[in-house]
Amino acid sequence: MPAILKENSAIKFRAVREARGDFPILSTQMNGRPLVFLDSAASSQKPQFVIDAIDKYYREQNANVHRGVYSLSQLATDLFEQSREKVRAFINGQYSREVIFVRGATEGINLVAQSYGRKFFKPGGTIILSQLEHHSNIVPWQMIAEEKGLEIKVIPINKEGELQLDTFEQMLSEKVQMVAVNHISNALGTVNPVKEIVEMAHRFDVPVLIDGAQATLHGSIDVQEIGADFYVFSGHKMFGPTGIGVLWGKEELLNKMPPWHGGGEMIKTVSFEKTTFNELPFKFEAGTPNICGSIGLGAAVDYFSQFDPKEVVAYEKELLAYCTSGLEEVGGIRFVGTAKNKTSVVSFLLEGTHPYDVGIILDKLGIAVRTGHHCTQPLMDHYGIPGTIRASMAMYNNKEDIDRLIEGVRRAKMMLG
Ligand SMILES: *Cc1c(COP(=O)(O)O)cnc(C)c1O
Repeated sequence: MPAILKENSAIKFRAVREARGDFPILSTQMNGRPLVFLDSAASSQKPQFVIDAIDKYYREQNANVHRGVYSLSQLATDLFEQSREKVRAFINGQYSREVIFVRGATEGINLVAQSYGRKFFKPGGTIILSQLEHHSNIVPWQMIAEEKGLEIKVIPINKEGELQLDTFEQMLSEKVQMVAVNHISNALGTVNPVKEIVEMAHRFDVPVLIDGAQATLHGSIDVQEIGADFYVFSGHKMFGPTGIGVLWGKEELLNKMPPWHGGGEMIKTVSFEKTTFNELPFKFEAGTPNICGSIGLGAAVDYFSQFDPKEVVAYEKELLAYCTSGLEEVGGIRFVGTAKNKTSVVSFLLEGTHPYDVGIILDKLGIAVRTGHHCTQPLMDHYGIPGTIRASMAMYNNKEDIDRLIEGVRRAKMMLG
């Protein structure tokens, strides 16, 4: 839990049940029915609070940052840097200069692979990933592994979709140069024991990157508690805008890493003979940053801070249980991913049907779910399936949404069965 919350037990939180009304899109219609949005694991909806912050920025505060002496540029710079500080507090990082603004989780991982990997990876070494990874936490490592001559190894899962830590322990050695795993699986909802994974890797001095893209939606993150070396996430998956995300890294490591992109902002001095680079975080933020996106992300953090993270998680667990038992009653459902520690994601198959066909029927009924491989093809291959139907819930969903989903799945079963 962020220090601000820990220290201030007098904070009066809003009730989680009030959240729904803050999201304008949830009172719109899709295909003639009230929208039921159950695809938050792909991208979350945005509250009016965030939309207003973005609107206000372009109407009243827009200018380039870190350059102008004029007041408007100062204002934009202040807002931009305040957002960095908000993010730091949200993840309980030590210094705001450890917060690097990037386009999203994907870019954060690429930055580490290209900057840290290019400099420090040695041929013959190993990178450990897991069977649960999103393509974004596979492909950047494959690219650098190929270039530098490293091997990729994969932490296996059991049939519930939980990482096998005893095998992971055996995979660790001095040869391992990076461990990169997700905090929460987007396809199955498994919550991984990231703190334990970090502890195990650190016994061999192996750095760990945590892909937190799915974690920030469900509560606060404490990067110091987790102990990881890098933590990445995307604004759009936590009520913020697209095109903005964060790479958080330990200062000591970030300082040792070379810049990745070159350009304005990231330099101290430039001449054709020699260029010197700026300090953290600017060293990694070449060019005009996504100023508005950062401010929108800061607003998303502020919005989130109105709610008690513990209540958010408890409420989502309630939705998860309600959805799971409702689907069980339909019959003919195969759940994919039944980890003990799971977030509000339900991945399933309906016997005798293709996920895509079920998705189309649900769409006609105004229900948005994800169907397919969820950018986790190796995981789907592991289960021997082409994909699943995935309903993923956020704190703005309610039991009526789930009732509509169950009703829709019943309908699909009748029509396709
Ligand atoms: C969405 C997601 C990503 C990629 O996030 P982008 O916003 O597309 O960069 C990576 N990992 C996980 C687990 C995700 O859910």
